Amino acid sequence: MEKLYYEKPYVKLFETEVAECRPDKDGKYLVRLSRTAFYPEGGGQPADTGTLGDALVTDVRECPEGIVHITDRPIPEKTVVTGTINWERRFSHMQNHSGEHLFSGVVHKHYGYDNIGFHMGKDEVTVDFNGPLTMEQAEEVEAEVNELIWQNIPVLETYPTKEELETLDYRSKKELSGQVRIIEFPGADICACCGTHVMTAGEIGLLKVTGVARYKGGVRVSLLCGRQALLDYSRKLNAVQGISVLLSAKPDSVVEAVTKLKEESLKKDSDLNRLTRQLLEWKTAEYPESDSPLLIIEDQLTPAQLRLFCTMLYEGKKGSIVLVCSGEEGLYQYAAGSSAFDMRALCHLLNERLNGRGGGSTLLAQGTFNASLKEIQKVFQEELYGGQNGIK
Ligand SMILES: [Zn+2]
Repeated sequence: MEKLYYEKPYVKLFETEVAECRPDKDGKYLVRLSRTAFYPEGGGQPADTGTLGDALVTDVRECPEGIVHITDRPIPEKTVVTGTINWERRFSHMQNHSGEHLFSGVVHKHYGYDNIGFHMGKDEVTVDFNGPLTMEQAEEVEAEVNELIWQNIPVLETYPTKEELETLDYRSKKELSGQVRIIEFPGADICACCGTHVMTAGEIGLLKVTGVARYKGGVRVSLLCGRQALLDYSRKLNAVQGISVLLSAKPDSVVEAVTKLKEESLKKDSDLNRLTRQLLEWKTAEYPESDSPLLIIEDQLTPAQLRLFCTMLYEGKKGSIVLVCSGEEGLYQYAAGSSAFDMRALCHLLNERLNGRGGGSTLLAQGTFNASLKEIQKVFQEELYGGQNGIK
């Protein structure tokens, strides 16, 4: 099968004859053609999509029998059809693939690392290297790559003989057999490759590193080129402008504005905690000391506040056992505290009767009851006034 995507990587529209069409599973069809411009998945570059006549091409694979196009409907064999490549997607792959070569070439030149993994995703391209790089180092490489892009250096595709190959210093992910295809950016990179590339570096437009993370003893660099880099820029600009409007800060000052907001929020948290503690101290002081069990229902206390209030009450000897509940009908948070009785045992007992969950220490237990206020009051009365021995 003629591979038009190598001879003419800019072919978006082509005529071809259907050599074979057979049904596959899931209602799809497997189509082989006399020639194709559809790139099959390989070398980190995803397959092309597009149409063959009226049929949608959803995937393309290189199989032992040749290049197989996966379509959503059958196409009569021996007919001539027009193939159309989803060009926006393919050109984006070409920009990213060529950009990745330049980036890997410059990393190899300065650090000697190999590219050991390459993946082109929908929103991200990742390149794995077998050595460490900091974000600053990756950005230095990015700057050098962009200079090469703007110098608009050519991209050369060659098929060297075995002898020529032996004298050639080129990057390769694996041992290669058969005819090797070489993609060269003169002065910047030489690499064995099976993907599609732009004709001159300028078409990459720009390359932007979006992240560097440690990966398998080396690093995984995330980057974007050309159209995808521009789309990413637009998304991030929108986000920054949104934050800028919300905080009434200039886009360049949003980090300072968010830092200030966080500091203010921490200060408010600390003020709120101090005031809540004071309020709970005053509430605690209102209860007289007592040897009887004490049940208190409070509005809108957080679990931490429940625990604090309960501790203040039982340590202040306001009850032999103190049960504080907060919540809404049917679901209450609770804290139970006592310095005389085992709260784990009480907790177990109350949980069983009030469809509850939770636990804690002998002094303090916390959890939730799936019960009504009436049920809680009834069980408290029965268990703590009727059968205190059960919890000792
Ligand atoms: Zn490649």
